[in-house]
Amino acid sequence: MVQNGEFAIIDRFFTHETFGAWRSKGVGDDCAIIDTGAGRLSVTCDMMAVGTHFLPSANPEDVGYKALAVNLSDLAASGAVPRAFFLAIGLPERNDAWLSGFTEGMMALAQQAGCALLGGDTTRTAKVGDVHAPITIAITAMGDLPLQMGLTRGGAREGDDVWVSGDVGGAYAALMHRQGQWTLPAEDFPAAALRMDRPEPRNALGTALLSVATACADISDGLSQDLGHILDRSGVAAQIVWDAVPAHHALRHLPRSRQLEAALSGGDDYELIFTAPADKRGLVEQAAISSLTKVTRIGRIVKKEDDSERLVVYTSEGERLRLAANGFDHFA
Ligand code: ADP
Ligand code: MG
Repeated sequence: MVQNGEFAIIDRFFTHETFGAWRSKGVGDDCAIIDTGAGRLSVTCDMMAVGTHFLPSANPEDVGYKALAVNLSDLAASGAVPRAFFLAIGLPERNDAWLSGFTEGMMALAQQAGCALLGGDTTRTAKVGDVHAPITIAITAMGDLPLQMGLTRGGAREGDDVWVSGDVGGAYAALMHRQGQWTLPAEDFPAAALRMDRPEPRNALGTALLSVATACADISDGLSQDLGHILDRSGVAAQIVWDAVPAHHALRHLPRSRQLEAALSGGDDYELIFTAPADKRGLVEQAAISSLTKVTRIGRIVKKEDDSERLVVYTSEGERLRLAANGFDHFA
């Protein structure tokens, strides 16, 4: 596993041998896949704080939508059908206008996904001096899987293709634009902003890939980092062809270094990155059609050599590209 900040903390403090009746493959996948005896559950928990995950100016409906969407996206990465979620929320003060917007955005997506709010907890966030901790939201979401089925980050094999859904880099480009660091053309910004504010969890695709993909993750921290988790858990390496990567169209006028940064290292796209055997290309295409979701083949899984890098990016001309940063890490 990558030993940068966030994952070093998880590795050192929160990775334990599982025990008890409900076993899973343990910490390290997007969801824990659990056999309860009565059936198979997929469970995830993602936390978001205004100020860290949302700009303080974010529209409350977008905050509510996205807080649930990122959890549904983890369920998609496991191939599960979303069924229920629990909401824990910490608020500095009661603000009914904000809460109405938040609930509206969250529940519209919940209805659409058939995923019901079954419980949670509500508290006031701590005040230190005159300063309240920001609004903090933690959602635990659950879905179900057919017995014996479920995608993890651990099954990629040498010779598999690497695929990605939708397009990547739009959410990060919108963030850079909003922070005044990059300038996107006025006609491209709204589409990129939609990728940042309203990511579409790929649950239909995840389910359709259940008997096709060998490994799957969703892209929350950047394509290279989330593919890196698949490579680490599977003990393999990958070669990616940059020209094949479906970069969001808002990136097209940016210099290549920024396109690479947004598409490969930028996070928040919530697309699926997955691997499948080369003889299942037709089945991957069928899964894409049945779920009405675009998929693109961007590279292949190779054997991991001791001294070589696990993820190498080439252009179609064979030029090797360097990645600036590895992806998002809360404690880097
Ligand atoms: P995701 O981006 O899908 O939320 P991450 O790659 O950030 O997943 O997390 C890696 C793994 O670490 C996941 O299996 C997650 O459940 C686990 N994890 C993260 N934080 C904790 C924690 N505080 N306690 C136990 N497990 C954790
Ligand atoms: Mg995830």
